[in-house]
Amino acid sequence: MPSGKTHDLITYVLAVPTGAVLFLLTRNPGLTALGTGAMLFGGLMFGPDLDVKSKQYTRWGVLRWIWWPYQKFCSHRSRLSHGILFSTFFRVFYFLAIVTLFLATVLYIQNVVVLGMPSTGEQVIGVFQESLRRMLTLIHSLDRRMVLMLLIGLWWGATTHTISDFVVTTFKNASRSL
Ligand SMILES: [Zn+2]
Repeated sequence: MPSGKTHDLITYVLAVPTGAVLFLLTRNPGLTALGTGAMLFGGLMFGPDLDVKSKQYTRWGVLRWIWWPYQKFCSHRSRLSHGILFSTFFRVFYFLAIVTLFLATVLYIQNVVVLGMPSTGEQVIGVFQESLRRMLTLIHSLDRRMVLMLLIGLWWGATTHTISDFVVTTFKNASRSL
């Protein structure tokens, strides 16, 4: 498969035609910028290689722990991380779940440590429900076209990675059998 550097280069190069196509389709500079930015983010930081200690993973810096459970869950180049149809949506779902868990932890600390509420099982369930409610409210408040553009961009950034993995591996195997 291509190196991290090659993957980055492919992402940068393809961002140009991606932006052009998005502009032709939407005629909207804001949506075009959002979709192209999401494509770059999808290729550079939110891509399939988060399943190993890759460039995509190290770019998360101090937040890279977010992907530790993900790496335990997905073996490298498995369908869950590299599949074209669902892997991006699985990552989005995973990421939102982690953010919700993080929010619940913050709420728990706020309630129990700062406000001195009892640390019961009910408290735990309560903060989970509250953080889930806040996340859903946030998602519902977003503009549908923006969400769609964001998902398309993320998906396309990750898909170009999977396609280039596939092309290079096929080419290597073919040249080996010559
Ligand atoms: Zn890969």
